[in-house]
Amino acid sequence: RVKISGRNDALIFDHVMDDITSDDLNIESELVGALNNNELSIHYQPLFHSKEERIYGFEALVRWNSKTRGLVPPGHFIEIAEQNGLIRQVDFFVLKEAFSAAQRWYDKGLMRGRIAVNISSVNFQQAEFVCQIKELVASINGNCKLIELELTETAMMIDAPTVAKNISILKSMGFTIALDDFGTGFSSLGHLKQFDIDKVKIDRSFIHEIEFNEQDRNITSVIIQLAGHLNIDVVGEGVENEQQAYLLHVMGCHHLQGYLFSRPLPEPQLMEYLKELPKTLPNVSQRMNIGR
Ligand code: C2E
Ligand code: MG
Ligand code: MG
Ligand code: MG
Repeated sequence: RVKISGRNDALIFDHVMDDITSDDLNIESELVGALNNNELSIHYQPLFHSKEERIYGFEALVRWNSKTRGLVPPGHFIEIAEQNGLIRQVDFFVLKEAFSAAQRWYDKGLMRGRIAVNISSVNFQQAEFVCQIKELVASINGNCKLIELELTETAMMIDAPTVAKNISILKSMGFTIALDDFGTGFSSLGHLKQFDIDKVKIDRSFIHEIEFNEQDRNITSVIIQLAGHLNIDVVGEGVENEQQAYLLHVMGCHHLQGYLFSRPLPEPQLMEYLKELPKTLPNVSQRMNIGR
């Protein structure tokens, strides 16, 4: 199955699950090397709270510094890693690094919230996954209260009772659970009821044009109200300008993430960014006062 769409007179072949190109096969074998040669690293994107006007946490996003390809974004290799099983190692690498960074930053007083880590639905559907997380936590003496796990609804589709059980075990260990990319997939109210989720992240496709598109604004508003009624926190992703931040803030979404605050950064640059705070932060709630 190949999806073809025209843009700038060129044909763009979107990657679909069952297409395996020769470049995918190269990526697959190179990825094995990448895992062995420490070519994976993590960039951390700050998460902003618009009422408290501070950075409260970070999302860990994997990067592949390939000797031949340069910096490869996750969009180019996560799906391949999911197909060949390497995703287990990728997600565990990120989780382990995040535990260590979170403890370090917490001890330095740089972090009051958590580091969010993306967990592939492929991993979350496997029964032994939670056991492996437990082993990891025990072996590194990890503080789960410093980590949030981000899942997508795909993870909830296959075996709901197992997923519900996994979530409750992970929560009893101290993790919080966020539902990523909400609004794009199933967006099931049943999932919100059935699974003990702490947070939903509104997909950035709704935020992208929120200042111009009434439909996006309405959908976003419904998700925010829904989350409010269910006592679930809500995060707006992909916030790129002050108007978007302001709109989300007045609609009641106070957890904001996006290039407006910072791009994902490697740890040394992140430390520089944190040093310059708070004077570099946009005035999201001050705009609110002006707007009234
Ligand atoms: P995600 O979890 O929804 O992460 C947010 C993505 O949005 C990141 O892309 C981030 O760089 C991007 N982003 C943040 N703010 C903005 C903005 O203001 N504008 C725009 N245009 N984009 C913004 P990234 O790092 O390329 O990651 C893409 C996806 O890859 C992630 O989406 C996540 O689904 C997956 N991913 C990343 N790291 C991991 C990982 O360690 N494990 C797994 N399983 N998946 C990962
Ligand atoms: Mg995420
Ligand atoms: Mg997302
Ligand atoms: Mg995503």
